[in-house]
Amino acid sequence: MLNDSAEIQDRNENQLFEGHAQSTQTPALLKELTFQLTITRAMLKTVELDQILYIILSGLTHGDGLNFNRAVLMLAWDRRNELRVTRSAGPANGEEAHRIWEGIKAERLNLETLFDRYSMNAGDPQYLTTKLVGLSVKLNETKPLDSLQAMQFELTDILSHCVATRQPLFINGVEAVYHDWASGESVAFKNFACAPIFLNGEVFGIILTDNYFNSRIIHADELRGLSGVANLASIALERALLYRRLKEMAQVDGLTGVFNRRYYEKYLREEFIRSKRLERPLAMIVLDIDLFKHCNDTYGHECGDRVLRQFAQLLKSNTREEDLVARYGGEEFVVLLVGGISENDAFCAAEKLRAIVEKTSLADFKPGQITVSAGVGIVHPHDDFEQLFKRADDALYEAKRAGRNCVRVYAK
Ligand code: GH3
Ligand code: MG
Ligand code: MG
Repeated sequence: MLNDSAEIQDRNENQLFEGHAQSTQTPALLKELTFQLTITRAMLKTVELDQILYIILSGLTHGDGLNFNRAVLMLAWDRRNELRVTRSAGPANGEEAHRIWEGIKAERLNLETLFDRYSMNAGDPQYLTTKLVGLSVKLNETKPLDSLQAMQFELTDILSHCVATRQPLFINGVEAVYHDWASGESVAFKNFACAPIFLNGEVFGIILTDNYFNSRIIHADELRGLSGVANLASIALERALLYRRLKEMAQVDGLTGVFNRRYYEKYLREEFIRSKRLERPLAMIVLDIDLFKHCNDTYGHECGDRVLRQFAQLLKSNTREEDLVARYGGEEFVVLLVGGISENDAFCAAEKLRAIVEKTSLADFKPGQITVSAGVGIVHPHDDFEQLFKRADDALYEAKRAGRNCVRVYAK
């Protein structure tokens, strides 16, 4: 272990001297430009968030890239005002670090090949991510440190400083420590650097890197490479966000925010295959608001729209996470009950929804003024699954005939 570290250190000091001597000469510049070009190409090939993060991390840690020992990416991807660790790269200890370096050397694994191996490496354990799950930085509560001279830093203070000043930084020779109060463990970063990632002029993420295992000294001109990667990350993440938004728009009903009919139909086909293979039943509830035309005619279309929005949210919040709620069209919605639910359970789920609608005040209406009728259909493994919607819809028709505000189950 000691030998390993010493060997790694020697090798890197040699590299460091070489790099330093040539820093103003062509090979170093050529290496930097080649790296920028390779990573730009790789990042523009994809719009998948995780793959983009993998490429950034590989670039930060590979010898043909920025050659850091470890790297962590924190993003405000789902939480607008809080940075959280989204992906990381780095071995758990010095022995593993040494093994990885030797492996890369023996295989002569260049950066381009590493980028292309995303699908092979995507699921690799992320040691640092598991150690840093509790780490967060609130973007609206950051403040700069008075001084960067200390014997030791709290990691959160360093990250907060980087966000507040909007500038990259590096510190050699001292540690930045993260204490996980829940587990009692801590993680130290040594010879570390960080750089903010911007989106529309605001800090949206942070890159944290260090040379924990070989203690390689970080030089000021390395910040240029780090900022370059952070800038590329901004562009790639903006594209990924846009793609995600477009994808959502294509799947979600604009008025109510639940899935639209197109997505429901695609999902239903997949669920047919899944349920058939697992030999389990599949149930569906079709719900249609009672006398909704009257509601529109009396109180206006805008009020009708509000009813639809609140109704859809009521369905979402009163069904299980795994069930699919979609707007089939107009004031008709479907709930697909997955997981092999019985006919009786499906009836109970529908009756629960009906009763909740009845006792809820929607838009300007008092409880009881807006009601819903529902039909339940179910198919079993030996049935024709294509019949599912028709069964539920036939049952809905029976519920309407029976006087509305009730649930009927399809009867053969
Ligand atoms: P029933 O109890 O038999 O279902 O009667 P109903 O009045 O609900 O049924 P009908 O199919 O006659 O009317 C449905 C109404 O839903 C007609 C249409 O104006 C209204 N509607 C459909 N889509 C929208 C929408 O996006 N917004 C609003 N406000 N109304 C809608
Ligand atoms: Mg209706
Ligand atoms: Mg209708």
